Amino acid sequence: MQGGIEIAELSPIVIPVFVSHLGCPHRCIFCDQRQFSEPVLPEDIPDLVRAFIAGCKRSHDRKRLVAFYGGSFTGIDSLLLKRYLAKARELVEQGIVHGVKASTRPDMVTYELLSMCKKAGFVEMEIGAQSMDDTVLHACRRGHGSADTVRAARIIKDAGMRLGIQIMPGLPGEDRKSFRHTVEEVASLHPDVVRIYPTVIIKGTALEQLYRLGDYRPLDLEEALDRCLFGYIRFSQEGCRVLRMGIPQPENVSIVAGPSHPSFGFLVKARAYRIMAEVLMERYGTDVRFEVHPLDIPELLGYKRENIRDLCFSYSFDHCLPRGYIRVKGESDKGCLQPRDIIEYIL
Ligand code: SF4
Repeated sequence: MQGGIEIAELSPIVIPVFVSHLGCPHRCIFCDQRQFSEPVLPEDIPDLVRAFIAGCKRSHDRKRLVAFYGGSFTGIDSLLLKRYLAKARELVEQGIVHGVKASTRPDMVTYELLSMCKKAGFVEMEIGAQSMDDTVLHACRRGHGSADTVRAARIIKDAGMRLGIQIMPGLPGEDRKSFRHTVEEVASLHPDVVRIYPTVIIKGTALEQLYRLGDYRPLDLEEALDRCLFGYIRFSQEGCRVLRMGIPQPENVSIVAGPSHPSFGFLVKARAYRIMAEVLMERYGTDVRFEVHPLDIPELLGYKRENIRDLCFSYSFDHCLPRGYIRVKGESDKGCLQPRDIIEYIL
């Protein structure tokens, strides 16, 4: 197995293997994974993995992980699950990948299943909590409750795997209070990574029917950005890494309505800079000059430069400033903010 500083510094290669809807006991109202991809058969995995790695830069210097996405991995019928696990294990034993991960439902996590996964080289399990409000989960016909997520998180940690949790702001029945509750409950489980997927309406789903009947209204983009920014800040405060905000946008997926944007994650971070800039302009007047780390300039300026266009500030960069900070040039600590300082202005 490879290791060392170089591997640690480069981003890992995550090779997605879609098991679309396999293991799912029913279809949740917002979901249609088949639009993303058909399930990959176990025997096709080695070729898929090799081809994916061959297309990546510096693949030998980077950590490589196989990831089973798009279904409820641990809920797959046991004979088929064993075939997937056998293929994953072969890849780990051959040194082609360093580990395996998967996403699954919280009510399909048991010590026995995780023990099988661990033997096949699993290092991480991601659970789709979606919400920690049981009323919302019921409205989405998830078929599990928030207690299942708490229990699954504990089992995954006990198994020595990294814990990932997905949440979906804007599900039917969710309001701001319910969303804040979800964020705080998830943060208290101390996941290693979190993904925030604002709910969008995918064609052909039960959610589309509710929408057409006028029984569901998706979040508008502004509200979705605010909820995601709140989650992003709170999870970061608790030491959880937010891996993704916004749903992936494959061409073959038909989105009917909802807060979908190709640069959603960027918009969230740019919103943080906008609010920080507004707060500092309140304190120091509009004739300020902001400083940020050079890599944060795009977020400071905003999507299509809308922050600087609307607020009309001047700016420069300072390599010594930590990422995520903004400072009024020439000012002391009070003139320097990071996203956690603006949490009270969101939601
Ligand atoms: S949301 Fe998850 S559990 Fe529900 S149908 Fe989709 S893949 Fe299956």
